[in-house]
Amino acid sequence: GFDVLVVGGGPAGAAAAIYAARKGIRTGIAAERFGGQVLDTMAIENFISVQHTEGPKLVAQLESHVKDYDVDVMNLQRAEKLVPAKAEGGLHEVQLANGASLKARTVILSTGARWRQMGVPGEEEYRNKGVAYCPHCDGPLYKGKRVAVIGGGNSGVEAAIDLAGLVAHVTLIEYDSQLRADAVLQRKLASLPNVKVITSALTTEVLGDGEKVTGLSYKDRGKDVDHQIELEGIFVQIGLVPNTEWLAGTVALSQRGEIEVDHRGETSQPGIFAAGDCTTVPYKQIVIAMGEGSKAALSAFDYMIRLPAE
Ligand code: FAD
Repeated sequence: GFDVLVVGGGPAGAAAAIYAARKGIRTGIAAERFGGQVLDTMAIENFISVQHTEGPKLVAQLESHVKDYDVDVMNLQRAEKLVPAKAEGGLHEVQLANGASLKARTVILSTGARWRQMGVPGEEEYRNKGVAYCPHCDGPLYKGKRVAVIGGGNSGVEAAIDLAGLVAHVTLIEYDSQLRADAVLQRKLASLPNVKVITSALTTEVLGDGEKVTGLSYKDRGKDVDHQIELEGIFVQIGLVPNTEWLAGTVALSQRGEIEVDHRGETSQPGIFAAGDCTTVPYKQIVIAMGEGSKAALSAFDYMIRLPAE
């Protein structure tokens, strides 16, 4: 068995594995896709101390840093079930899709999250070429340009307010007949001169010239009429879904399915920790995931050294 088994190989999991291995304890990392969301990212300009990098390049560096240590890296392995130890100090079990089962004294869950997609033509084709999901990451790339934000919940309205300070014009598109964000955010949004809100609108297509986004089509659901808007960027804000479906019933999850953790990264189950985008910790970012992963590993180590000798 492992002392620390990390499930998930994004920035949180990689950081957790490195911090654990540096304590000289038996460390493993099982990941469905090593690199996680970073693999799908183009320009990264907010990884502090690195002015500019690209997703696949950062993933290669994460991998080589992990491999500098004695870490058992199990890539292309999907965890399907977690069975917590029966008694404190016992072994937790993680069952994999391939039928194997891994045992460990502590587990760090870092399975990340995925942005809910619109599922319309052009969205996939123009991903990172005008279609974006993270205003903190990509907002500055649209300085002086026209963008749309899809989704009128809190994250959509926050994104629109944020972007309005950077870009020339923001069109916020909401499917429902009214915005769902908190009233205070809606008031702030309404006070901004360069934001237009369109409700009862279903986005139907991302338009582009083969290289980049040039606009979008939407259907006015009231009048059943199609419209087109010319713009350079589309921020999709219809939900970030944590990859925690497989954990339901084993560790406490929030209403949104995020793993509840305390300030040391411990879940509701003793000896099981979690870090990164799959948790309730706010602001889903690479540097934050790495910090949380490191913290979870140190907490796991702290937990282990207090267990009675085997
Ligand atoms: P993830 O990166 O999501 O990694 C999760 C890991 O868990 C993966 O290895 C995955 O395969 C694995 N996994 C999932 N389920 C299972 C399972 N059941 N069993 C085993 N393994 C599993 N952040 C920034 O700071 N700057 C940026 O510029 C930036 N740009 C972004 C651009 C895009 C297009 C996207 C999608 C995100 C961007 N982000 C950016 C956000 C950043 O990528 C995430 O905050 C970060 O990757 C979260 O790290 P994580 O380790 O928590 O999760």
